[in-house]
Amino acid sequence: MLKEISIGLGIAAVISMFIMGYDITPLLFFLVAGAGLYYVARMRGMVGAKNFDSPGGAGRFEITFSDIGGQFSAINELREALDFIKNHQSIQSLGIRPLKGILLTGPPGTGKTLMAKAAANYTDAAFIAASGSEFIEMYAGVGAQRVRKLFQTAREYAPKQKKNYALIFIDEIEILGGKRGQTTSHMEYDQTLNQLLVEIDGLKVDDNIRVLLVAATNRADMLDPALTRPGRFDRIVKVDLPDREGRMEILKIHTKNKPLARDVNLEVIARETFGFSGAHLESLANEAAILAMREKAQEISQKHFNESIDKVMMGGKLDRSPSAEEMKRIAIHEIGHALISELVRAGSVSTLTITPRGEALGYMRQTPEDDTYLYTKDYLENQIAVMLAGAAAEETILGNYSTGASNDFAQAMRTAEEMLRAGMSDLGVVCLDSLPGDLKHQTLTGIVRVQEERVKSHIAGSKQIFDTVMQILLEKEKITGEQLRLILKENAVS
Ligand code: ATP
Repeated sequence: MLKEISIGLGIAAVISMFIMGYDITPLLFFLVAGAGLYYVARMRGMVGAKNFDSPGGAGRFEITFSDIGGQFSAINELREALDFIKNHQSIQSLGIRPLKGILLTGPPGTGKTLMAKAAANYTDAAFIAASGSEFIEMYAGVGAQRVRKLFQTAREYAPKQKKNYALIFIDEIEILGGKRGQTTSHMEYDQTLNQLLVEIDGLKVDDNIRVLLVAATNRADMLDPALTRPGRFDRIVKVDLPDREGRMEILKIHTKNKPLARDVNLEVIARETFGFSGAHLESLANEAAILAMREKAQEISQKHFNESIDKVMMGGKLDRSPSAEEMKRIAIHEIGHALISELVRAGSVSTLTITPRGEALGYMRQTPEDDTYLYTKDYLENQIAVMLAGAAAEETILGNYSTGASNDFAQAMRTAEEMLRAGMSDLGVVCLDSLPGDLKHQTLTGIVRVQEERVKSHIAGSKQIFDTVMQILLEKEKITGEQLRLILKENAVS
């Protein structure tokens, strides 16, 4: 308001001077130059404070812990830390020092921001959000000034919301709190981080407005040790990718408001989505609903979910249209993968398609057996066999390879290297760094060759199946695992 009145008075003064016959050209020049300088400085964050995202807080979205699925232990740990803050009188009687900062670490999209919002709701705190990148500037002192402003905003915003607590959430804290002395403009980075440390150290239990700091990162290893030492971020909560039960819970949360057909089996979807984060699962449910809408269906059915798993995994369908000759090659390549996949683990193929999606011209999707975190030698060898089977099928049936197999080869080599590192090769346990290059190469190609021979001999005896499945794929573009297994059974090769 004051700014608008001053501008109005300034303009009125200039006009009066002009009417009274003064030469106002030099004045106009200085005014324009001054405004230009102010604008540039503001753009670079040197003047005027940054507005942090306070109104986007818990109050508005009302996220609670029950909106977060598959993070049972993380939520328990976080809630316990928050109870220390809520009941600070009783913990004081035991002489316990309350926490100042909680660090949430884990892969992207696992619900860290949701947890911070739910934490604000749980403690009835005002929620102020910022991202580490908002503090990074080339100009000395600007980042530190923004850190001060962030804490000041929190202290001013909470009473306006009639709250006694303020929860500051800093996402991507590694950008602001990376190890000191590692960037080129390290003086500015160091000043910003130092200011954050000063603010954390200044948080007191008996402050009128109690401020709690919650930060999130995907790269806890990059943080400066000064941040994670006791007394600062002294509670570190791991927010991992959900397991099967967790995925099931998240799917229930994100399908609650959607009309599901009777054939929808969330358990099957949870099983097929190993490695998906909460964000992936939310997107999966959303995509399935969009597909149903496109078909003008009243309910979302299992086929919509199946298609949207492919979409979330591989990317959207492409308009590329390969030639008839290429389509045939793609079909043979994918059948090769599927055939060997069924050989090494019956029932493992979920879908087989020659519709181009994302980077792939076609693909075979496997159903994960169960959530797997450790792999045996047999398992890895079988995986290599499945990876090589596409190219092996092209060579056995069409007489040559194509460039479509290069990714499979790279992946097979990476798996062979994993085996070497885990002491599963003929060399036994080795130090990979001191292994001569030739020997390493020989060992890796040795592992791959054995699987290549195994795969080729199986494919050579299954030409009839290739013909049958290829006809279906060329006509329908897609075949389910069940249909494939039926054909295998009829041909008695499974
Ligand atoms: P990033 O590290 O990339 O910032 P994040 O871990 O903070 O990600 P969120 O922003 O909390 O992830 O999650 C993004 C979206 O994904 C949420 O809005 C929600 O729809 C969904 N989501 C993620 N995790 C969960 C979960 N555990 N339960 C329910 N929904 C989830």
